[in-house]
Amino acid sequence: MLPLHSELMPSGGIIKEARATVNEEALGKTMAELNFQCKKCEREFDCDVGKISFPVEEDRPRFEKEIVCPRCGILSMDEVWLTELGQTQLGAVFMSAE
Ligand SMILES: [Zn+2]
Repeated sequence: MLPLHSELMPSGGIIKEARATVNEEALGKTMAELNFQCKKCEREFDCDVGKISFPVEEDRPRFEKEIVCPRCGILSMDEVWLTELGQTQLGAVFMSAE
């Protein structure tokens, strides 16, 4: 029984590792990337905003990173629209944050 047991252990470890990678990827998609539209050039883009927090005292979410338009550079939240997709993504983050 012992040799069989030791053979199973490494494969168990590999499965665990693979799952962790998938989870991280899924988390990265829902936690960080939001779809915006730039008010200046009207271009839609996905932006990695890092961690998103929802301060109670503010009526808008706070992002860890800057919103960067591929054409115009760093933008404030007043210079972008959150697209329908972006709102869905943000909603998913909000639900998971609560
Ligand atoms: Zn732009």
